[in-house]
Amino acid sequence: MTNKHRWAARSRLPLLVDALALDTTDEPVRRLIGAFGGEPTSVTGYDLGEPALRVRKLRFASGGEIVLHHDTVVGVILHVKPAAGDLGVVDLAQWVKGLTNDATLEELKAALALPVHFAGLRSPYFTIGAGYAGLRFVPGDGSGSAGAGGWNQPGHLTRIVITMDKPGLGLPPDADECPACTDLLVCGENGVDVDATLLRLESAVAAKTLKEVASRAKLTDLRALHASRLMTFVESHLICTSCRHIICFTLYRDGSPTFGHHAVDEARRRPAEPIPPADQWAAQERVVAEQDALRYVDHQPGAWFLVQQGDSLYLDARYSYSAVIDDSALIELDPAERSAYSKGGHEYLRQLAGKIHMSAPYTPDSPYFARDLYRRGGEPGRDYRGEVSSAIAHHTWSAEQRSRRM
Ligand SMILES: [Zn+2]
Repeated sequence: MTNKHRWAARSRLPLLVDALALDTTDEPVRRLIGAFGGEPTSVTGYDLGEPALRVRKLRFASGGEIVLHHDTVVGVILHVKPAAGDLGVVDLAQWVKGLTNDATLEELKAALALPVHFAGLRSPYFTIGAGYAGLRFVPGDGSGSAGAGGWNQPGHLTRIVITMDKPGLGLPPDADECPACTDLLVCGENGVDVDATLLRLESAVAAKTLKEVASRAKLTDLRALHASRLMTFVESHLICTSCRHIICFTLYRDGSPTFGHHAVDEARRRPAEPIPPADQWAAQERVVAEQDALRYVDHQPGAWFLVQQGDSLYLDARYSYSAVIDDSALIELDPAERSAYSKGGHEYLRQLAGKIHMSAPYTPDSPYFARDLYRRGGEPGRDYRGEVSSAIAHHTWSAEQRSRRM
């Protein structure tokens, strides 16, 4: 065994990795079940989404758990702290040489001789052969130290989750049935009952259990957009405010509706079709609402967007600082800026956006800090970021139509 594989020599983790992507009749899975003590103490199963994802969880008195999707092992969990009351816990010393159940992140790293990676800011993991070992710790001590206190303290490790999916990319196998978002799909004999499902989703949005992702189709537009047959598919994204997973509800022009739970990154990577202007598919009142909404006027790729509402002009100007800050500010042009824009046009906006960027508008010293509508919220009840994203989404549609005609 080379130094590179010290983790494998010093732990029994290969036993867990070898079981991934196989089914319960395969020898490596039988071997793992044996190592967990034979018969599981509980087997739970449920369906998630449409087409249904069949989830099955085998839990063992020894603190092990095997999670299957459609009868294939997608995750193996070592419970270091009791989960949901009924389970035993593993003796970590039997799985990784020299460790106790009180291991800190530093001790895990030393014992396995592996570098720590992070999925997001709070989810450390190791790469172990063909799989990944995600580490769950109890959240930080609440002192506001970004949760970092959690993994430096002994006794905070709760579980080790072995997956084939890179942490952060797929739905984690220990994403338990979230009471807030797992009961929203309604199915009839012919698959998804679209109206009943829409009703549940809309009440969840009203109750703030779910939040609509502004760059995708609005729930209330889904039916009309689908009926217009202008798009090959129309999709709404709803983020669960409890578990942070995203529900993607999709109506296809030529196909059955789908409903799925996804990790944030996974949802973001799903293809999006630009949304046509409302006058092509919506009822009159919706068309009027869009005319009253923010509308795209001009932009400079990667730097700024100018949007308009009535007589007001708003500049969404991107700013960045090192690799950490990359955001944008939304500034309503004042009378002097409006008059300069009417003379200087696009070139004036280029200069203004440059000035905003150079002023470091994320610091209170910048004159744009207090004017940034993204920061101070502006008119109560308005979601400026959402409104600007949807104005831009409509513009993207028009631009694509033009390039198709050319
Ligand atoms: Zn949820």
